Amino acid sequence: MQIRFDGKRALVTGAGKGIGREIACLLAQCGATVIALSRSPEDLAALAQEIPCETITVDLAAAEQARTAAIQAGRVDLLVNNAGIAILEPFLEASVEAFDTTMAVNVRAAFIISQVVARGMVERGTGGAIVNLSSQSSMVGLLNHTAYCASKGGLDQLTRVMALELGPYQIRVNGVNPTVTMTPMGEMAWGDPAKSGPMLARIPLGRFAQPLDIAHTVAYLLSEQADMISGTMIPIDGGFLAS
Ligand code: NDP
Repeated sequence: MQIRFDGKRALVTGAGKGIGREIACLLAQCGATVIALSRSPEDLAALAQEIPCETITVDLAAAEQARTAAIQAGRVDLLVNNAGIAILEPFLEASVEAFDTTMAVNVRAAFIISQVVARGMVERGTGGAIVNLSSQSSMVGLLNHTAYCASKGGLDQLTRVMALELGPYQIRVNGVNPTVTMTPMGEMAWGDPAKSGPMLARIPLGRFAQPLDIAHTVAYLLSEQADMISGTMIPIDGGFLAS
């Protein structure tokens, strides 16, 4: 089985670092024309040195900028809503500002970009595939992750409704729910061994995820090999949810 995306245009949000960067590289390797969207222009410039890609610099926390960026991307056949932030605060001290920003980036931007992209797919009648980067934190509560857990739970529900409403247009929508993954975000949230130790102990496979673990699953879900899969959320967690 070989996954190829020749002739397809793939928009990856948050492609500047971590999981999104790995996804962008893998999709390019599989023949897709990648449109890499992120916030820091220097990250996108570095990525463009590594793979052929179009780049869009935007702060997805701003709704209108997110919409404009999605329009700027032009034709999109494959969409990966990967950009996300994590602001860790204990529930009793959690701020409205952090909550709102988290929801704006992790859920609202995925909604806005998907809507623009899906309208294009519907108009062209070509179908398409969308993958949302959720998290194991949509399925369990994690200490100090109030806004983050709420946002990923929301994203899973967005995935389900999109799958329902876009299915008749042959647009498949799925989510992936990784465990701790060693990226700049993963280091920030789990770099302290006192925190990561108990989490690691609950993962039967005995390790955290690597960005490529996530990219492989995303590529599969985008591919024609997954043509009958829609509305699912796939844990990539080494068995965490079974513990
Ligand atoms: P990183 O923080 O390492 O990278 C996130 C990328 O998204 C960066 O390029 C960042 O750009 C970009 N981004 C963030 N906010 C915005 C914004 N407002 N506008 C545009 N781009 C933005 O995160 P990961 O790679 O670890 O995470 C990727 C996805 O996977 C996220 O949705 C995350 O929630 C999810 N996830 C991560 C896990 C982990 O343990 N790492 C586990 C489970 C899920 P910049 O740096 O310039 O702000």
